[in-house]
Amino acid sequence: MNSSDALGFALGVLLSGLIFVAASALIFWPLEELLEGDRAARPKFRDLAYLWFYQSFGLWAGAGIIYEIAFLVRGILPHSWRLFVQHQPFWLQAAAAILLAEVWIYSLHRLSHTWAFLWRFHRVHHTVVDMTWSASSRQHPVDFFVTVVGANLPAMLLGIDLRSIALFVLWERLYTVMLHSNLDLDWGWFSKVIASPRVHRHHHSPACRGRNFAGILSLLDVLAKTYQTPDGPERRREPASEASEMAARAPAKVAAASAPLDRG
Ligand SMILES: [Zn+2]
Ligand SMILES: [Zn+2]
Repeated sequence: MNSSDALGFALGVLLSGLIFVAASALIFWPLEELLEGDRAARPKFRDLAYLWFYQSFGLWAGAGIIYEIAFLVRGILPHSWRLFVQHQPFWLQAAAAILLAEVWIYSLHRLSHTWAFLWRFHRVHHTVVDMTWSASSRQHPVDFFVTVVGANLPAMLLGIDLRSIALFVLWERLYTVMLHSNLDLDWGWFSKVIASPRVHRHHHSPACRGRNFAGILSLLDVLAKTYQTPDGPERRREPASEASEMAARAPAKVAAASAPLDRG
């Protein structure tokens, strides 16, 4: 790649992040304003910067790390496994890639709530107490990269073409923004299969950590008996409590102090 190609690539990545932020804003900001009015949190510049960076350069850097690790450990799985996988129909390969990713996200997330070493990174995400679309990517870089790399590496090692799930990944990124939005949406019994914003809001509630670890496939929580719904609709936004006031000023310290490890 020559320098003008590299510059074009960097500009393309930069632009893709801006388009993602703009699309999220166009979809979820009016909805929050419409349905939540005064209670809707206003986007913070820092959260928008997180959203832009992780959804552009962050994802590309993650893909680069996955590619490098897969190259280094490519001999770890028997070649016959890759041949077997590559002879399966497209839909089965895509479903396997998604399931492998969801199992990793669930397991890592649950471990992040029980192992102090991982909690110190994951607690950054739990400074999101007042749910809002713009804060969905508020994450420590270690939390982000370990999640992304672990979610996609097994599929890569098995020889599944990750481009086959590119559209799913885009939908999944937007869906994750919706899960963090201040929209009191629930899918009824189907929330036990695919998480709703109310299910993930419950995970962020200081009253309930240690439940609802799944990314999107909440069926994993049901199977592992970590699924929990709040009793009735949760309050859309708590009045500013002492804890959340402090969290606004010193997020990481307060999150650590006010939400010590929860046993999942
Ligand atoms: Zn969590
Ligand atoms: Zn979250």
